[in-house]
Amino acid sequence: MKHIVIVGGGYAGINTLEHLKKQLGNRLGHDIRMTLIDKQPYHLRKVLLFRRISDKDFNLHIPLTSYTGEGISFVQGEVEEISEREQAIVVTRDGLKRENIPYDQLVLAMGSSSRHQEDQGGIPLESSKTADLIRSRIEEGIKAGKSIHIAVVGAGISGVETAAEMGCWLKDSGAVKVTLVNADRRLLSSAPKKVSAHMEEELTKVGVNVIHGVKVCQYDDQAKTLYYSDGTTETVDVCIWTTGLKSNVLSASREKGRIVVDESYHVKGMKNVYSIGDCALVTDAKTGRIDRMTCKEAVLQSGKLSRIMVKDMTGSGKRLVHKSIPVEFYCVSLGQNRALVWMKKGKYSMLIRNRLALFIRKSTWDSASLIKK
Ligand SMILES: Cc1cc2nc3c(=O)[nH]c(=O)nc-3n(C[C@H](O)[C@H](O)[C@H](O)COP(=O)(O)OP(=O)(O)OC[C@H]3O[C@@H](n4cnc5c(N)ncnc54)[C@H](O)[C@@H]3O)c2cc1C
Repeated sequence: MKHIVIVGGGYAGINTLEHLKKQLGNRLGHDIRMTLIDKQPYHLRKVLLFRRISDKDFNLHIPLTSYTGEGISFVQGEVEEISEREQAIVVTRDGLKRENIPYDQLVLAMGSSSRHQEDQGGIPLESSKTADLIRSRIEEGIKAGKSIHIAVVGAGISGVETAAEMGCWLKDSGAVKVTLVNADRRLLSSAPKKVSAHMEEELTKVGVNVIHGVKVCQYDDQAKTLYYSDGTTETVDVCIWTTGLKSNVLSASREKGRIVVDESYHVKGMKNVYSIGDCALVTDAKTGRIDRMTCKEAVLQSGKLSRIMVKDMTGSGKRLVHKSIPVEFYCVSLGQNRALVWMKKGKYSMLIRNRLALFIRKSTWDSASLIKK
């Protein structure tokens, strides 16, 4: 029986599994089986981490066993290395037991982790645990009846969403100040100026103060001081880092810190090994465009990858290659009841706000995690 192994139950991994399930149909459990491996027992709805700060009961975890079925199993363990000679991966289970799991086809979808380093101080928004820690620090300050200052460092989409969520959540809590620190000259600088301006306007409405063109070097947790790159400092009670991601790469060959794949997601120099999502350096060979580390790109890659894998397995079908999406698309949450969607194809662009944007926001969040209505 052929064995497909998928490492990582993030957006890339679960969507690859789902596409393969549909394509392989009743061959699963008969001549093909699949194993999903993740160090955590759950799929983390990462793009919604900011919501867990404002709502402690918000469930971000979906058990990975809920994505399995006939001929598909889940193994909780951490993949440490790939033994190419044996076509097997080495997995550590319960932190101790090392086990070799052989594969016929292997997908590396280990995603990414926060680029934040411990010695920079503050708290990175990267897991439910860190979201809970941020919440408890904010609550401690509010309970003590002090005025508190929260800094969100890094104004990419996740920084904007986090700052907006904090602003909405805390705007009636009295003396709370929220600052979003943007290293760039304006928000979401790849979008037109009017989109950046609209976003900033929305942030201002919920009490977020945005500062541009400055970086943060360090936060001193004891002294509660934020150190800016221009030499100035500021008193901040809670420092949340949203400064970007670094890929989880194992022992595969890498470039720009990500696993190098060809135009059909085959890992360079490895046989029967594929990689997509945040950990992979996926390039459109025709345009030279490198896919970004986003949920949307990971999900789109998974559909094509599953067809490539089935084609490689059966040896039939036409050659498929990666193409980057011809549409630029941003869906940004601006607090509980506001969102903004901006898309651009060629010279046409569209800005959507209000209820339609909220609907698109919920649909993209749910469909990425395979949540059915
Ligand atoms: C705070 C935050 C907000 C974001 N907001 C947005 C947004 O609004 N829109 C957007 O498009 N993107 C957003 N992103 C980026 C988005 O979350 C990622 O692009 C997406 O999660 C990539 O999916 P993935 O499956 O490649 O990786 P991940 O979601 O990182 O999943 C990787 C999985 O692999 C597992 N794993 C890792 N290493 C191993 C190992 N050695 N062994 C076993 N298992 C392993 C992990 O436990 C994890 O389950 C955000 C990211 C963060 C952190």
